Amino acid sequence: MPKTCTRCPRKCSGIGRGFTGFCGAIIVDDYGVRDKYPWMVTAITTSVIEKIPLYHFYPGSWSINLWVPGCPYTCKNCPWSAVVNGEDVGKLYELKKITLNEILDYFKQVSANIVSILGGEPLIHEWVAKLLSELKAKGIRTVVKTTLTVSSSIVEKLDVDAFLIDIPILAGSTPSIGNIIDNIMYIGRRGIHYELLLLIDSTSILKWTKILEKLQTIDKDTPTHVQIVEPVNWKTIKKIIDKLEATGFNYVYVVGDTSGEYSTTYCPNCKTPLIIRDEYGVREVLLKDNKCPKCGLELKIIGGVSKGKQRRTLRLFASGERILWSP
Ligand code: SF4
Repeated sequence: MPKTCTRCPRKCSGIGRGFTGFCGAIIVDDYGVRDKYPWMVTAITTSVIEKIPLYHFYPGSWSINLWVPGCPYTCKNCPWSAVVNGEDVGKLYELKKITLNEILDYFKQVSANIVSILGGEPLIHEWVAKLLSELKAKGIRTVVKTTLTVSSSIVEKLDVDAFLIDIPILAGSTPSIGNIIDNIMYIGRRGIHYELLLLIDSTSILKWTKILEKLQTIDKDTPTHVQIVEPVNWKTIKKIIDKLEATGFNYVYVVGDTSGEYSTTYCPNCKTPLIIRDEYGVREVLLKDNKCPKCGLELKIIGGVSKGKQRRTLRLFASGERILWSP
């Protein structure tokens, strides 16, 4: 009897034994639906949280980042797009099995404040939800980068402190924006912090009117990061930023901005620069108790700001071997 996976909208069905779904990481067969690579990651790295990028959640803090393979989508220019069409991620990537104790050990070793789970689409894996709950039980803050287009029953059970929500406005087979917005509304009601990551390519500007209509319902204090995934001229980028600001978004950032202009947090009321960043992280903090020192407006920044700088991005293992950390 074929079984159907309902973890994401693709709803893959499989019969026999060992059929791998489109994401390359979930088995769907006569025996049910299960993770093919439980507790396996392609890499563990460290970075400041601004590199995730999250700007309003414990700014300047230090994160260990778990890279989880497998994704149901085929967005153009995504480094994970090689995994699609049911190609088994185990054949494409060197995977490493990890345990909770090992993660805790890495966490301590690098004096991290946060664990971030990145993908691919990490939420298709059952073990990721389990890991999040176990980290929560240990009092560790967690972040997930996700398209949020997984079944609502998965989103409802998650124990997570913050989301970076990936919205790919790209060519290729991308998730439905409507679906993403529905889940954003849900996590907003639950009071979970989230920021948006809008992935842009040269085709994005054509879809922009529709996208803005969908984004209308989102809280305008949501930090919104624009990431350009292929060379796009500055005029186009500026047009996108202007449209977001005209729609009312108060915090629009550009990923990898070296000028500082679009990585700095300004007071939405009086435009005073409050958290000045460069490409390495937080450079200067003028915010006082989360308030603008000039006009007194309170900003919704979760946690205090530390002046953490990117020391370096480091892989904590390679070729299956652990690399010792020496700060
Ligand atoms: S999670 Fe994977 S196996 Fe399940 S429906 Fe989506 S693509 Fe198919």
